[in-house]
Formats: sequence, structure tokens, C-alpha cells
Amino acid sequence: MAKSLSVEVVVVGGGPAGLTAAVALASAGIETALIALRQPADHRTSALLAGSVAALETLGVWEACAGQAAPLRTLRIVDATSRLIRAPEVRFTADEIGLDAFGQNIENRHLVAALDSRATAVGSLIRVESEAVAVESRDSDVVVSTKDGDTVTARLVIGADGRRSLCRAAAGIDSRGRTYPQTALTFNLAHSRPHRDTSTEFHTEQGPFTLVPLPGNRSSLVCVVSPREAEHLQALNETELNAELEQRSHSILGKITTEPGRGVFPLAIETVQSFGRQRIALVGEAAHLVPPIGAQGLNLGLRDAAMIGELAVTARRDGGDIGSDNVLDHYDALRRADVQSRTLAVDLLNRTLLSDFMPTQSARGLGLYLLDRIGPLRRAAMREGVSPRISQPRLMRGEAL
Ligand SMILES: Cc1cc2nc3c(=O)[nH]c(=O)nc-3n(C[C@H](O)[C@H](O)[C@H](O)COP(=O)(O)OP(=O)(O)OC[C@H]3O[C@@H](n4cnc5c(N)ncnc54)[C@H](O)[C@@H]3O)c2cc1C
Repeated sequence: MAKSLSVEVVVVGGGPAGLTAAVALASAGIETALIALRQPADHRTSALLAGSVAALETLGVWEACAGQAAPLRTLRIVDATSRLIRAPEVRFTADEIGLDAFGQNIENRHLVAALDSRATAVGSLIRVESEAVAVESRDSDVVVSTKDGDTVTARLVIGADGRRSLCRAAAGIDSRGRTYPQTALTFNLAHSRPHRDTSTEFHTEQGPFTLVPLPGNRSSLVCVVSPREAEHLQALNETELNAELEQRSHSILGKITTEPGRGVFPLAIETVQSFGRQRIALVGEAAHLVPPIGAQGLNLGLRDAAMIGELAVTARRDGGDIGSDNVLDHYDALRRADVQSRTLAVDLLNRTLLSDFMPTQSARGLGLYLLDRIGPLRRAAMREGVSPRISQPRLMRGEAL
């Protein structure tokens, strides 16, 4: 029989951003429902920066992740192009800014499993295992209908329903984006040499080739290439692929064996005109799509989840309406600068790699040269990368909502 529920907040979508929002709100005592189907295993990995790890620790999620994650203590950028002007190698180490690690790398399947079991453990979180099919905003509430005929009424909807967001469409929020002539291939690898907690990003003419440590002698790889090259790599047999990846990684990790669970992701970028309106706030990829360069996407998504949670808790404590235009306008203002600046930086870096225009190459080379040579600049860049000054929600500072 169809059910009707009434809560303060309903989260739509059970990816990492939605699960984090739901756990954060329910843990803070807000009546929350999560409409989500269980996710299929995602073999991608996420490099989570220190603030994201602190948030997950505060929410009681990280405990179950720690054994599956590897610290990122050194980041290397190596210009592997064959262009006339090549940038020097730049090496960032976490201890230069007084940190043990910049962050931790973990397979999404382990992260989502840890969030999922925490969501179950937070007894007050109501789980509706279905798909949302309609979202209707009204003056004082919003009604979400599910495929199974249930309805959930709330003051605020958090749309965490990914890049083809139903919530975004229901709020009438436009998004702007474009595709790149590139595809990201993802692999998890076992290798014969240790990675020494170092992530290495080789810059090539087709895009970055980034190795990120996993526990033991394992790493994840995001290899950004042209769609044609992606097809070629996908057609290789296992022995050929292992040899090709070893050669592209300049053998720094020795012999490579690719593990099952590969991914193919055409590169695109997308930003929304607003982060929330009509009682609907967008988080994660429903709000922004960033190419997988420089590990930004989910870190932004977790900051979205933490920020809307913080604003909802504050509004409720002050006796306000947690889905009001005031709350959503404030959320939009707080998230816009962070998301736009990161999106722009990723887009610029990617374009400078693809461009054969000599002045563009020189500018990238000069930027990396300055980062390499000028200690205070390098340290400022590292600090900004790990914890952005413009938007650091309480959870990212290790404080409860
Ligand atoms: C190759 C690659 C590497 C990456 N590496 C990193 C990295 O190192 N660090 C980093 O920070 N980020 C990284 N990212 C980005 C990161 O993977 C994404 O930002 C993140 O997975 C998005 O999470 P999400 O919860 O917003 O969306 P999703 O994971 O897409 O989750 C959305 C969920 O909503 C559900 N859903 C959709 N519609 C409905 C509906 N109507 N009703 C109910 N549920 C619905 C979907 O089934 C899905 O489960 C990478 C991305 C790629 C492609």
C-alpha cells in the first residue's frame, strides 16, 4: 500500500554526496528521509582532501574507511609532453605545510559502503528504497513522489541525484556545460614497486595520466586521452594493456597488473545557474560536473552537503523555515565562489594541456616554474588546495553541525 510521510528534509539520491547530506542532517537531529536505491559497485576511487576526511570522521564514517584508504603525502606533477617548452617537475609534500597527508585515496565502493552502513546506524534516518519520479514545490512545502507510489512531504529537498538531476529540472534551474574532446579511462592497478604515498600526475598532450596510491602496492589510475586513443586502449588484451600502462607510467611503479572494474567517462563540464530555489537545494554532481583532474568533484560535493546541512541546522535553531528563499540564497552565495573557482582552474589547466599555442604553453611552464621555485607561493597553493579559505563548512573543520 502507498505510504505518505512527512519530514523536515528529504534527500534524493544515494551517491556519496546524498548519503553524506542525509547522515549529517539526521545525526544533527533533523527529521530526514533519504529516497535512494542501493548503488551498484563503483570501482572509481576518490582522492579526498583533509577537510573531507575530517568531515567523514566527525560523522562517524571514516572509521570504516581508514583500513581501505591510502594517505597522499607527496604530489608530483611531471611534464611528459614532447613540446618545445616543457615545465619543470613540481613536487609538493604535505609536511611542508605541517600536515601528515594532503588527504586519502579510497575506492568509491568502500566509501559508499561505509556511508551506507552509517546511514543505517543513524536510527532516525528514514530510508525509502525507491526512485523519485516527481518533485512538486508548493508555498510552504515540497512533495516528492516515488516510483512505488509513496509520497514524502518536507520543507526542504536536497537534490543529490547526479548529473541528470530530476530535482534540478523540478526547480527550473538551468545548467550550462560543454564536452571536451577527451575521455577518462579508470583502472585500479597492482604494481611491483611501492608508491611511497606519492601521487604522480604526468601531463601529456592529450590530458593528465594520474597515478594515486591505494593501500599496499596498488594504485588507481585516471588516464585522460582522446576518444580515439581510448578506443585503442580498450581494445588491447590484458598483457598489451599492462605493458602500455607501464610504459606510459615511465615504469615508476615497476610491473603493472590491471585489476577488474574499469571505467570510461567522456569528459564534460557543467555549472548551474543557481544552487537552489523553490525549496530545492542541489548538491554534488546535480550542482556541478568537473573533469576528473586535480581531484575536485566529490570534495566539492561533500562541501555542498556539509554547507546545506549547516544552514538547515542554523535556520531550525533560530526558529526559521529551513527551506526558505533566505536559506537557499545564502547557500547559493556560499557555494558559488568555491565551485566556480575550482571549475575554472580545472578547465584552464586542461585547456593549457590541449593547446599547441606557444604562449599558452609558456604560461603553464612559467606557472609551474614559479610554484617549484618560490616556497611561500607553493605553500600558499598547497594550503588553498587542501582547505579553501572561501568555503570551509564546520564539518570540514572537524566540528559537528
Ligand atoms: C574518472 C573520475 C575520477 C574521479 N576522481 C575523483 C577524485 O579523486 N576526487 C574527487 O573528489 N572526485 C572525483 N571524481 C568525482 C566524483 O566521482 C563525483 O563527484 C561523485 O561520484 C559524485 O557523487 P554524487 O553523489 O554527487 O553523484 P552520483 O554518484 O552520480 O550519485 C547520484 C545518485 O542519485 C541516484 N539518482 C538519480 N536520480 C534519482 C532519482 N530520481 N531518485 C533517486 N535516486 C536517484 C543515482 O542512482 C545515484 O546513485 C571523479 C570522477 C570521475 C569521472
